[in-house]
Amino acid sequence: MPRPKKKRKINHPPKMLGFKPFGIRLCDTEQVIMQYEEYETVKLVVYDNLSQEEAAERIEVSRPTLTRIYNSALKKIGQAFVEGKSIIIKGGDFEFEKNWYKCKRCFKLIDSIDHPTTCDDCPDDKKEELENLNA
Ligand SMILES: [Zn+2]
Repeated sequence: MPRPKKKRKINHPPKMLGFKPFGIRLCDTEQVIMQYEEYETVKLVVYDNLSQEEAAERIEVSRPTLTRIYNSALKKIGQAFVEGKSIIIKGGDFEFEKNWYKCKRCFKLIDSIDHPTTCDDCPDDKKEELENLNA
């Protein structure tokens, strides 16, 4: 019997909204949409060097599901890399392990443990509202 679908757990949002290829006009490029959990599997398996079993435990999915998400992410990266497409990281079926906010001015990521209302890095006269990434 299939288990009820749970949201995938993501520890830390990516620093960027996506990637764009160099040496090609952005307006000429097509976009590949990468879901947050796809980004997270690449981070855990490639960057953090976890086994797929360990990565599956981190984001709270089965190992076969992890492999499916990871393979989908690699396919999108390969497609963007070879075809000169940009990658936009958005959407998915996930929740962060803590609440995250992003400064709309300098794009600094701030977690809820800091109880943020404004960005500490931006000057007082230029402070902007924080974007709630959890919504
Ligand atoms: Zn800021």
